Amino acid sequence: MELYDPSVIRAIKNKYKFKFSKSLGQNFLTDKAAIDGIIDGAGITADDLVIEIGPGIGTLTAAAAEKAAKVLAIEIDRNLIEIMKFTLLEYNNIEVINGNILDTDLNELIRKEREKREYRRVIVIGNLPYYITSPILMKLLESKLDVHNMTVMMQKEVAERIMAQPGSRTYGAITVAVGYYSTVSLIEEVDHDRFMPPPKVDSAVVKITPRETPQVDVEDEAMFFKCVKAAFSQRRKTLQNSLKVTGWSKEDIDQVLTEAGVDGRRRAETLDAGEFAKIADGFYRKESISR
Ligand code: SAM
Repeated sequence: MELYDPSVIRAIKNKYKFKFSKSLGQNFLTDKAAIDGIIDGAGITADDLVIEIGPGIGTLTAAAAEKAAKVLAIEIDRNLIEIMKFTLLEYNNIEVINGNILDTDLNELIRKEREKREYRRVIVIGNLPYYITSPILMKLLESKLDVHNMTVMMQKEVAERIMAQPGSRTYGAITVAVGYYSTVSLIEEVDHDRFMPPPKVDSAVVKITPRETPQVDVEDEAMFFKCVKAAFSQRRKTLQNSLKVTGWSKEDIDQVLTEAGVDGRRRAETLDAGEFAKIADGFYRKESISR
C-alpha cells in the first residue's frame, strides 16, 4: 500500500469517514520524490531514533521506519491515530503518540527512549502543520534537544526567511534565532500540487543542524533575544527608535549603540548576529550595574 498514492488516500478517507482539518494544517504528501528527499536528506541510519511531528496517515512514518531503528510519531488528531493502526500495521518499530507537539517534553521522551536501548543519534522529521511552523521550530531549538538534525517541510516562504542573509527583505527575528542555534540548508522545493488537499503556497524541505555552540557568544541569551525581538518589532524604524519598545531611554540606547559600534540610524534587517550580540551585551552590562 503506497500511502502517498492519491487513490489510496481517498480510499482511506472514505473507509474511515475522515475529513481533512484545515485548522490542523492537514495537507498530506502525495509525492514519492518529496518523501525520499526528507528521508535521504535526514540521513537516517539503522541505529537512529526518529521523532516525527504530525505523521498524518503515516506516509513519512513508514518510509522512515524502513531505515531507522525506531520511529516515534506525535500526532494531535485522534482520528488519525485510529487510521495509523491500520496503515502502519506491518511495522513493529513505530510508536504513535497522541499529543500536541507544543506540549510534549521532547527531552524527556528522548531520555526515556535512550534508557530502553542505545541509539546512535536522534533525528527529527516532519511535514510540519503550517499554522505553527515557527513555534515548533523555536520549541525544538530552544529546548536544546540532543538531536543530530531536523529535516522538515515548511512553507517555502518560511524556509526563505530562515535562510535569509542580513540586508535582504526576508531577513528577520526568526532568521537570527534559528541561525543562533543552528545551520540550515535547503534540501528541496515542493510544489503545492504535491499535497492532498493542495495548500495555497509552495513548500520547501530544509535540514536544520544544531550547532555545538551558539553562533555568537553572549553574556545573556534572554537579553540577546529581547534585543532581536525589539529591533524587528518595527522593522521599518531605525534601531534608535525600535529599541525604545523595551522601555530603555534614548540616552541609554544611544550609548549602548555607540559602544557597540553600530550606527543607530540602521535598521534591524542590516545587522548580523555578532552586532546583535554586542548590543545585547551592552544592555546586559548596563542593567547589571543598575541592579
Ligand atoms: N506527515 C503527513 C504527510 O506528510 O502526509 C501529514 C502532514 S500534515 C502537513 C501535518 C500533520 O500534523 C497533520 O497530520 C496534523 O493533524 C498534525 N498536527 C497538527 N497540529 C499538530 C500538533 N500541534 N501536534 C502534533 N501534530 C499536529
